[in-house]
Amino acid sequence: MVVFFTAGAEETQALAKDLAKKLKPGDILLFFADLGAGKTTFIQGLAKGLGLKQKVTSPSFILANEYPGKMPLFHIDLYRLEDGQSIEDLGLEEYYEKGGVVAIEWAERMGKNLPPKAKKIKIKSLSENKRKITIG
Ligand code: ADP
Ligand code: MG
Repeated sequence: MVVFFTAGAEETQALAKDLAKKLKPGDILLFFADLGAGKTTFIQGLAKGLGLKQKVTSPSFILANEYPGKMPLFHIDLYRLEDGQSIEDLGLEEYYEKGGVVAIEWAERMGKNLPPKAKKIKIKSLSENKRKITIG
C-alpha cells in the first residue's frame, strides 16, 4: 500500500499519469471515495497517461464509457445504480476481459461482487485542495 498527498487536481492527475504507465491490459482499479473527492479527476489523468485523446467526463446516466486506444479505458460509475438494481445484471465481468484498463467509481456499491485481483484506490478530502490518496 502506498500513500500520496496531493495539493490540487493537477497533482492528482500527474500521479494517475504515472500509475497509468505501469498498468497492463485487464487491470482493474476500484475507487472508494466520497462525492467530489477526485475519482473522475484521477481517471482523467489515467486516460492521459494511457495516451487516450478523448476527454473523460462523469457519465451522467450511463454506467460505462469506453475510451478507445491501444490500451482502452473502460470507465464505470456506479453512482446512479438504483437501490435494488442488481450489480450482477450489469455484466461488469465482460469489461474485465476486453484487454483494457477498467476503472470503477463507487466500488463500495459492488458488495460481494468486488473483483479479487483489483487495485484499490481511496481518496480522502483533507481540505478544499488537499487529498490523501491510498493505492494498494
Ligand atoms: P468525484 O469523481 O470523486 O465525485 P471529481 O473528480 O468529479 O470527484 O471532482 C473533484 C473536484 O475536486 C474537482 O473539481 C477538482 O478540481 C477538485 N480538486 C481540488 N483539489 C483536488 C485534488 N488534490 N485532487 C483531485 N481533485 C481536486
Ligand atoms: Mg466522479
